[in-house]
Amino acid sequence: MVRNPRFDVLFEPVRIGPVTAPNRFYQVPHASGMTNALPQVRAAFRGVKAEGGWGVVCTGAVSIHPSSDDSPLPFASLWDDRDIRAHALMTDAVHEHGALAGIELWHGGACSLNRTSRLAPLSPSGMPWMSTHLGFMGNLRPRTMDGGDIRDLLRWQAEGAKRALQAGFDIVYVYAGMGYLPYEFLLPEYNHRTDAYGGSIANRVRLVRELLEATRDAVGHRCAVALRISLEELRGRPGVNAVSEAHEAVELLAHIPDLWDVKMDSSPTDCAPSRFAPEGSHEPIIGFVKQLTTKPVVGVGRFTSPDVMVSQIRRGILDLIGGARPSIADPFLPRKINEGREHEIRECIGCNICISSWHDGVPVRCTQNPTAGEEWRRGWHPERFAPTKSDASLLIVGGGPAGLECAVTLGRRGYPVTVAEAGRQFGGRLTFETRLPGLRTWGRVTDWRLHTLRELEHVTLYPGSTLDVDDILALEHRHVVIATGARWTKMLFSPIEFPVGELDRERVYTPDDLALGEIPLGPVVVFDYDNYYMGGAVALHLAEHADSVTYVTTAGNVSAWTFMTNELPLVHRALSKAGVASLTLHLVADFDGETVTVADVYTGVQRRLPCRSLVIVGMRKPRDELYRALMERSDDLTRAGVASVTCIGDALAPGAIVHAVYSGHRHAREFDGEAACSDAQPPAPYTRDFPL
Ligand code: ADP
Ligand code: SF4
Repeated sequence: MVRNPRFDVLFEPVRIGPVTAPNRFYQVPHASGMTNALPQVRAAFRGVKAEGGWGVVCTGAVSIHPSSDDSPLPFASLWDDRDIRAHALMTDAVHEHGALAGIELWHGGACSLNRTSRLAPLSPSGMPWMSTHLGFMGNLRPRTMDGGDIRDLLRWQAEGAKRALQAGFDIVYVYAGMGYLPYEFLLPEYNHRTDAYGGSIANRVRLVRELLEATRDAVGHRCAVALRISLEELRGRPGVNAVSEAHEAVELLAHIPDLWDVKMDSSPTDCAPSRFAPEGSHEPIIGFVKQLTTKPVVGVGRFTSPDVMVSQIRRGILDLIGGARPSIADPFLPRKINEGREHEIRECIGCNICISSWHDGVPVRCTQNPTAGEEWRRGWHPERFAPTKSDASLLIVGGGPAGLECAVTLGRRGYPVTVAEAGRQFGGRLTFETRLPGLRTWGRVTDWRLHTLRELEHVTLYPGSTLDVDDILALEHRHVVIATGARWTKMLFSPIEFPVGELDRERVYTPDDLALGEIPLGPVVVFDYDNYYMGGAVALHLAEHADSVTYVTTAGNVSAWTFMTNELPLVHRALSKAGVASLTLHLVADFDGETVTVADVYTGVQRRLPCRSLVIVGMRKPRDELYRALMERSDDLTRAGVASVTCIGDALAPGAIVHAVYSGHRHAREFDGEAACSDAQPPAPYTRDFPL
């Protein structure tokens, strides 16, 4: 297939100071959770993106000194020469495919609590940064930097830049964003200095200017020098000589860096979840930058549509299309556009599970791309698959995320696959969940898989087909995969924090009832101890129908786990805007049809709230009756020629969609033609990586 000429502009080379990017696809720095301790894993993860056509591939944050220590969160380092080799593996992997390698040198200032190095965090004026935010909560306050500290910082940056050059990087960053040290100097409320680095905006950008100059002096003209800067907060402030302080800051520094990498200030706005922000959401903040500089500008916005990318360039918003999440969800996105296969792009759904992996301190996981982070340790290439080892046919029962992903991967390997789904539509839990407020984009999980399956001749899809044991025996497939999902229960939650006792009464509902179209009578109480998106999304959904919705949770926040995915503050705002009352740190003790009894989780003090319908979003249980019934018929299975029956996804262990997809993918990868490995009998453990 050939490229659509409409997208030619995306494949033009772009000069960045002394180096040239081969096209406009720029993987901006993003966390991978891999650190220097997993150098091969990291090199393969980044190298696959270069292979997939990203013209520039960057690292995540690379600390320049032990006073920038983010532990226990994962971060890379370039503290001394021994760190160079680990990074060189990545630059080699990126260069192998003709892409440029960029490195985000980083000092976290007061955001880095230095839990391991135990050095006092550095800051412009000795103030804590966002100290009610879990990640930044600590009890060692930062110290104020003096002139000697500033000179040290400039030296660390220069030394880091020299090491980056030795490691083979082509673009070296100064990072003045997201609350990190140089950014902390930009904000007047935070920078109270009375020396040359505080006061006017010209003084507040001085540190950034000096860092850029120190970097340039260190690398000469062998590397480009990039500035990554957050502009949201400054954009909201009037300037003295320009529209805003953001305009003034950009004017003051306009021609110093070789590249402007512009972004938002906080993770929930910068890496906004699709529930609350559309593609291209940064444009109103960063759209002005190109008017003030002749240097190339890169920015992000969860871009997956080539038409939107072209529009960003044609309208003079960006020169380079930045991608972090879209490059994780589909490392081959540029190549697919280049080869006229843009309909094959596996689009990021904006769920931010990738970010939750960083918060978990582990290598990146992705809902859409189960191979992310597994390229080296399991040898899973996103676009290449081991061929069939037999002509055995497989029957997959259940067409949710697990079943569909399993079918896609088995199908791509060449196996004949049949998928039977009870519902009229494929998608499993997503057929309902994508109808909840904000969750439509998650439908891409189903769409991409169905689209891929329909292109595979040896895969047959049967919607509206509920199979029982006898049906399965009669179909005579050699291998059976059970992907029948899970169901929500009406379990309450005990004061010592585990699910206990079903409350099976009239007008007690679960999300499964809502999926069937039940509309509970108000006032409604939603009791959430699942803590991920479902409780909050259900409350928002019900607020569209009932005039009184109260959300009750045992956690300290609404949808408490969503602090991992950047959604939490946005869920709070959305519930408040929709008129949903929230009651945290309470459990539901009883419901009599007219009132619900809630109890404080710490004191046990009870009170009653008016309530005619109670929706419990708590624990899910595997829908595994079919699997268990099959296992009881082993003689019949043998007679019918069934060699294996495997349970995957939520039917094995209920989890988030990311886990179901991964489970389906793993089964398909490890299927050896006769049987697959199970969790109980894993294959040879994945290859372990070690620091160099
Ligand atoms: P997962 O996330 O593990 O893919 P889901 O609950 O999203 O799980 O999807 C499971 C799918 O399996 C649902 O669409 C459901 O309709 C389907 N299913 C359940 N039991 C059967 C059955 N006996 N025959 C066919 N399909 C089934
Ligand atoms: Fe996109 Fe979700 Fe994958 Fe992150 S985890 S890259 S948000 S699909």
